[in-house]
Amino acid sequence: MSARFAVLGGGLMGRLMAVSLARAGQSVDLFDRAGPDAEGSAARVAAAMLAPLAESVEAEPLVVELGQDSLSRWPALLAGLSRPVYFQRQGTLVVWHAQDRDQAVRFGRALARAHPRLPGAEPARALSGAEIAALEPGLGTRFPRGLFLPGEGQLDNRALLPALADAMRDAGVRTHWQVMVAPEQVEADWIIDCRGLGAKPDWHAVRGVRGEVVRVHAPEVTLTRPVRLLHPRYPLYIAPKPDGIYVIGATQIESEDLSPASVRSALELLSALYSVHPGFAEARILEMTAQCRPALPDNRPEIRWEGGRLIRINGLYRHGYLIAPAVLEASLALVRHLAAADTLRPADWRAQQRWPSLYHFEEAA
Ligand SMILES: Cc1cc2nc3c(=O)[nH]c(=O)nc-3n(C[C@H](O)[C@H](O)[C@H](O)COP(=O)(O)OP(=O)(O)OC[C@H]3O[C@@H](n4cnc5c(N)ncnc54)[C@H](O)[C@@H]3O)c2cc1C
Repeated sequence: MSARFAVLGGGLMGRLMAVSLARAGQSVDLFDRAGPDAEGSAARVAAAMLAPLAESVEAEPLVVELGQDSLSRWPALLAGLSRPVYFQRQGTLVVWHAQDRDQAVRFGRALARAHPRLPGAEPARALSGAEIAALEPGLGTRFPRGLFLPGEGQLDNRALLPALADAMRDAGVRTHWQVMVAPEQVEADWIIDCRGLGAKPDWHAVRGVRGEVVRVHAPEVTLTRPVRLLHPRYPLYIAPKPDGIYVIGATQIESEDLSPASVRSALELLSALYSVHPGFAEARILEMTAQCRPALPDNRPEIRWEGGRLIRINGLYRHGYLIAPAVLEASLALVRHLAAADTLRPADWRAQQRWPSLYHFEEAA
């Protein structure tokens, strides 16, 4: 017999959970304060780069491992959707200007330290100027040195979110758009809280980290894979999406300010962009958006269960797309365990999981 699930929040994690639960035969209601286009979510604004090695320089080892695992899970997830979603794994190109060589040395050392934790990942490769030009002819020989991070990827989140909305409909999820909810307001056997920063009123540790991104249309620029610019003050990424669209980001500011992007951020991002490829001078700015990444104090994701009917999934921070498939699997495993009323103590069950530290069980503390 199917249980009744209420999924709170229909951004990235909420949509993935709702589709999976409904396809597994459960009865699912999904609530979101916004609409099917996911306006107001971090998921809509994100660049959706899938870069475990590049992120390993700053991210927690848990995040890097979840990211590496998720890279190979995305194709099957996308194949189950009724519309195509652009996804590529052509690696990340990292470049820097000659005066920022020190940044590159530090970045290279951090990559070398992180790489042994990534089973199956190819190490970063040093590139000459000619090799950069061969990979990305559009950059010419502007950069004499670079790094290539093989196997890293990205996807088109603006295609994924509506595709997941269709998948929810097809799987029989009852969607309740434009409805603001809190866990105590819904009736269900199980409540899955995926509200991101919206969970803050009843999970005070959740915080927002502001990020600003620009979307431009630059049909004359021909970058084919994500490019990262190392810079002491204005680190930048350029993520090419289909149809000549590029997503450029992102600032990272410890603030929950959701007001529009500032002139300073616009100047920094766009100047750094122009310094990578002057062809962007003629690009058309489609959007400049600010949104907050939902984070926990240690910047790690968490699946939290406090002994009742509420499971919280949060803290995806700047890595939601990178780690979502693995977090989804881990969340579904917990749902199955709890719904089966297994006699194994949660702490013992957790100890058997691949990533025990992803789970926080209050009763097991
Ligand atoms: C600028 C920026 C760039 C990013 N770039 C990347 C990247 O390149 N790679 C990567 O992996 N990740 C990236 N991310 C991070 C990624 O977007 C997030 O980690 C991910 O979206 C978090 O998913 P979520 O479902 O937890 O939260 P969200 O996607 O924010 O979804 C939360 C949902 O809950 C809803 N909600 C909130 N409160 C309520 C309420 N009370 N009632 C009903 N609904 C509610 C919201 O409307 C929203 O739809 C980026 C984020 C930002 C902001």
